[in-house]
Amino acid sequence: MPRNSCGRLGFGLLTALALLGLTSGIAAQTLATPETPSAGNANRTQIRIYADLSDAPRRIFHAHIVFPVSAGPMTLEYPEWIPGEHGPTGPITDLVGLRFMAGGKALEWRRDDVDMYAFHVTIPDGATELSVWLDYLTPAEGLGYSSGPSATPKIVFLEWSLVTLYPQGVKSDDLTYLPSLKLPGNWKYGTALETVNQDDDQIIHFSPVTLTNLIDSPVLAGEYFRSIPLATEIKPPHRLDIAADSKDALDISKDELNGYNQLVREAGALFGARHYNHYDFLLALSDHMDDSGLEHHQSSDDRAPERMFLDSLMMLNNADLLSHEFVHSWNGKYRRPSGLATPDYQKPMKGDLLWVYEGLTEYLGEVLATRSGSQSPDDYREWLAWSDAYLNNWPGRTWRPLEDTAVAAQLLYVVPNRQWRSWRRSVDFYEEGALMWLEADVTIRQLTQGKKSLDDFCRMFYGAPSTPPEMVPYALEEVTAALNQIAPYDWQKFFHDRLDAIALHPPAAGITEGGWEVEFDDKPNHFIQSVEASESLVIENFTLGLQVVSESGEKNGTLSDVIPGGPAAQAGLAPGMKLKEVNGREWSAEALHEAIRSAKGSAEPIVLLVENDGYSQTYRVHYHLGLRYPHLVRDAAKPDLLGQTMQPLVANPAQ
Ligand SMILES: [Zn+2]
Repeated sequence: MPRNSCGRLGFGLLTALALLGLTSGIAAQTLATPETPSAGNANRTQIRIYADLSDAPRRIFHAHIVFPVSAGPMTLEYPEWIPGEHGPTGPITDLVGLRFMAGGKALEWRRDDVDMYAFHVTIPDGATELSVWLDYLTPAEGLGYSSGPSATPKIVFLEWSLVTLYPQGVKSDDLTYLPSLKLPGNWKYGTALETVNQDDDQIIHFSPVTLTNLIDSPVLAGEYFRSIPLATEIKPPHRLDIAADSKDALDISKDELNGYNQLVREAGALFGARHYNHYDFLLALSDHMDDSGLEHHQSSDDRAPERMFLDSLMMLNNADLLSHEFVHSWNGKYRRPSGLATPDYQKPMKGDLLWVYEGLTEYLGEVLATRSGSQSPDDYREWLAWSDAYLNNWPGRTWRPLEDTAVAAQLLYVVPNRQWRSWRRSVDFYEEGALMWLEADVTIRQLTQGKKSLDDFCRMFYGAPSTPPEMVPYALEEVTAALNQIAPYDWQKFFHDRLDAIALHPPAAGITEGGWEVEFDDKPNHFIQSVEASESLVIENFTLGLQVVSESGEKNGTLSDVIPGGPAAQAGLAPGMKLKEVNGREWSAEALHEAIRSAKGSAEPIVLLVENDGYSQTYRVHYHLGLRYPHLVRDAAKPDLLGQTMQPLVANPAQ
């Protein structure tokens, strides 16, 4: 490889030299911590961190951290439990090139035998600073929230937890970091951090922050970048920062932008106060990052397909992405279950109240997306019909209560595929939590004859007075006490019955008491279509009881899930098998739909030729009810309380 095509070719050599203690001076030149305005002010308690993202297009992040130290043993930790990911997901195996230097000497280090995220060093006499160099290798593909792919040739998303170490045993609120950053080329960026300046070497200097705020303040940067102020009449200010893999992908329509402007207004009206100094929606549009969202107090790390603004099904599938993460600024960041309010990134989190943290956010994210016009009331009803029908009658519901999906969230988030999802259950506290909170909302409206709603609870629990970012932990009793003030009721029992019970059906009274019924017909459900398009799936949960991967390539035809007890499972099919032919014809979504249609009312089975680890076998599936998709239909005997939950709270100036 020509040397000039690989500027960092010498780095491996430097690392080897460092281990031999030969590098003083050389390594520091390679990746110097820049001088910063405040570093010159002799603030000896500040930790300086410099992230060099010049190599981000090659998916390598470099960092240099300087700690003020005194002589003696010292232990540094790499963040393990990542806020918002609710689990020990810090990507320690992608941390490489670790080197320590103090007093002009390279230091030997040793990983802790039990805590794989801890590194022990001994600071020599007379040393006052410890320099640490590290590299982080962001993967090219795979899932994993912030530890999944975080860079493309045109975008980088830096979550600082990926490149940060901190002294063991100190609370993240008690550590101050002075961050600086170098980006590839002339890329533009957005972040909740306050920029001080950009120097002649193109290094961006930020104001000092606590470690809590640093890890809570990612940076999104890209070659194709737009920063759009939202709802400019509102203080504090809000911005939508978009980085995309192509210039065209930045082309957000007036309607979509209006939806985000309204989101800012509707959220303010819902909660009645804000708990940030400014807010940045950081949106990466790429097909090479995992679609995901990670909440922060003054920003959100939002990742969606490159063509989200150009493709209506992609947009529909992500209609609540920004609203969900925005709600977390109140529900999750400002108010947080005490089990998730940990003092550092090594203490394990307890997820038992994730049905509040995530379940209520899922509900409010859908409600706000509808109130602000990012999705229509019909889109929202299609999502509700899907959620209710999808979770219904799962065999997993015969052994695992909903609360256990929250307690075990740290395991369920990282289950690598969707096989036997209905038997294992997954992080169901999102969809089922939303159904439960819809029922709570409808119950309050019934108990108070429409005078109160869950909006009042939101204002009481998450609202005034407005504050800068701060975190107020809570216990379940505080949630039920607040609900009792809005509408006296046995809320403890309400939640207990829905969380701890073994029940075949998810809570559906929010829909039925809200004036609607779930019914099936052969017309496609829009939301299911958006999932099928976004995830390259054919979803036949409600007919044959299976899902098939429909993407081109090796995985095409793979049964990603089969529902135990359904027609496909009864015929002997299982996840991981590969569908080759349907009724003698090469498999495709159309061939499968045609077979389901033509078997309706007939006695003939649907014949599937399936490959299983190199063996081929024919399966006969007896299913004769035709295509089936869930929808909500109005029950005129009851008032439309569901419709009331979707009513905007503020006027839309664009209408
Ligand atoms: Zn969430």
